[in-house]
Amino acid sequence: MAPPRQVTIVGASLGGMSLAQELRRLGYDGGVTVIGAEPTRAHYDRTQLSKDLLTGRAEPDSLYLATEDEIAALTLDLRTGRRATALRTGEGGTTVTVDDGTSLGAEVVVIATGSAARRPRFPSDLRGVHCLRSLEDGLALRAALADAERVVVLGAGFIGCEVAAAARELGREVTVVDIQPVPMHGVLGPVVGDHFRRLHQARGTAFELGTGVDGLVGDGHVRGVRLADGRVLDADLVVIGFGGVPETRWLEGSGVAMDNGVLCDDAGRTTAAGVFALGDAARWHSPRHGRPVRSEHWNHVGLQASVVAENIVAGAVTTQSAPAARLDALPSFWTDQFGSRMQLVGAPAPEDSVHILAGAPGESGLVAVYTRDGHATAAVAVDAPRALIRHHAQVAAGAPWPPVQATPH
Ligand SMILES: Cc1cc2nc3c(=O)[nH]c(=O)nc-3n(C[C@H](O)[C@H](O)[C@H](O)COP(=O)(O)OP(=O)(O)OC[C@H]3O[C@@H](n4cnc5c(N)ncnc54)[C@H](O)[C@@H]3O)c2cc1C
Repeated sequence: MAPPRQVTIVGASLGGMSLAQELRRLGYDGGVTVIGAEPTRAHYDRTQLSKDLLTGRAEPDSLYLATEDEIAALTLDLRTGRRATALRTGEGGTTVTVDDGTSLGAEVVVIATGSAARRPRFPSDLRGVHCLRSLEDGLALRAALADAERVVVLGAGFIGCEVAAAARELGREVTVVDIQPVPMHGVLGPVVGDHFRRLHQARGTAFELGTGVDGLVGDGHVRGVRLADGRVLDADLVVIGFGGVPETRWLEGSGVAMDNGVLCDDAGRTTAAGVFALGDAARWHSPRHGRPVRSEHWNHVGLQASVVAENIVAGAVTTQSAPAARLDALPSFWTDQFGSRMQLVGAPAPEDSVHILAGAPGESGLVAVYTRDGHATAAVAVDAPRALIRHHAQVAAGAPWPPVQATPH
């Protein structure tokens, strides 16, 4: 089928702009409109917000992923500081409504609106309480860290732990609170999660694990965190790291199927003809897992953008047409804490067995493989990228574990 003449992308950050770049790389010469809610350029490396930006090792200018000239060369109709407020699909065509009152008709719409920070159940509207999603949030948190003495991080997920590490590097007193028994338990399980507990504790981070939070204490400015057991931790800076929720409120009533993200097939196509979704806002069907998966990791977004671009250029824009490209990639991500990089490939479950192949939890050089029912499901390596490459193929193939040894003749 012929490619569409006009593509409208909602979200001007990693997913949206990677797609625009990919469309042009494939020679697509139709119109491309990109609508982005952040007030300035949003195509920056969000992963650095909880790492080098906080410690001051990176400045905002170094985070941009393309120069202004490179963006200009894409000849986009780029509308920054504008938020899409509604999507209409159906027989009358597809229309995106924008908060400046305009309505844009488009043959193809791509949803790339990412995720928003999950808010706590208790009131959190006090000065000194921060979330971290945007560059604006990152700069505000960096400024607050400069004056803070006692930092409490709520949630020992990746972002919470990275913020805690940066705050310790800046010499602040830091406590991390989580209901789980070890950091990142839901993603990494008990053994590798415990690696992070040890890594942090060796550098002075305090933990309150297995502990819920009841609320915040303060009057105008936060003064403490009330734990579920009644204790109050003093704090003059609180960071909420409760993870992200897909930024899909603007799609209510659009007719696009959603369930913890916009549901897509493995080609990025939603249930509405001509509407794609990618990145943190989307939940693509994963042939590998046999169910929809919302990845929320950087590496996946670029791969999805390539698949969506190929399908748009091929005119394969409805689930009724055969796709030109599908995604069947192994999930992968990394985290940097205290100058140490952990990389993971695969999709471990907390109940998987963990086999330590090198090093020990808490130390640089840890290499481990996760297994389930005698097959490799994931591999993790701390400061050992070559070891990860060695185990990548085993994980991709779901190879038997322990590995079958070749019998000598
Ligand atoms: C602090 C932090 C650290 C991270 N660190 C890592 C890491 O170490 N490793 C890793 O693998 N991943 C990491 N990630 C995750 C990674 O950054 C995301 O997976 C990636 O940014 C997702 O890209 P996206 O384009 O889908 O969404 P986003 O990057 O969130 O971009 C979405 C854009 O859409 C805009 N938008 C939202 N709603 C609207 C609307 N209605 N109209 C117009 N525009 C809208 C938003 O303002 C935003 O600019 C981190 C994320 C954060 C926040």
